[in-house]
Amino acid sequence: MKKPGKMLAETMKHVLKRPATVRYPYVKVEMPARFRGKIKFHADRCIGCKACMRDCPSKVINIIKVADKKFEAEFLNDRCIFCAQCVDTCPKDALEATVEFELAAFDRKNLKTHFYADLAPKVEAKAEAKAEAKPDDSESAPKDPVPGGGVPPAGA
Ligand code: SF4
Ligand code: SF4
Repeated sequence: MKKPGKMLAETMKHVLKRPATVRYPYVKVEMPARFRGKIKFHADRCIGCKACMRDCPSKVINIIKVADKKFEAEFLNDRCIFCAQCVDTCPKDALEATVEFELAAFDRKNLKTHFYADLAPKVEAKAEAKAEAKPDDSESAPKDPVPGGGVPPAGA
């Protein structure tokens, strides 16, 4: 058994020490950079291989093709166990484990996240391609067969 003096010293040491816990949620906690929180999807990097869907143990991810080489993702976060297997699996770094962990909600439906693909550049590119393919009106207009216009004379 420890002597009373030693015990008192040990007690005082812990009384004066900074607590190991924090007063969350009154004090916000900064998570370490490698924390595995809510998964973020980068639509601009996804190639639609669906390896993440295959490897996810909780069937959280749904990759949806919305246009040529454009993919969106739907996450059922209420099922996610934050293992970050999908992040490791993705060959294009299109998935990222963020430090976000405050995900509580009253309704499970609110835990669904949809990441949209940016289709705007594609539309612009299409419009540009169309404009390039279509020759200029002044160039494409048939040459006036009759100088000054009008109907060409019969047999001309
Ligand atoms: S593994 Fe990556 S690239 Fe493949 S579908 Fe999933 S997010 Fe997209
Ligand atoms: S972190 Fe794990 S459970 Fe969550 S989506 Fe990725 S693979 Fe699935």
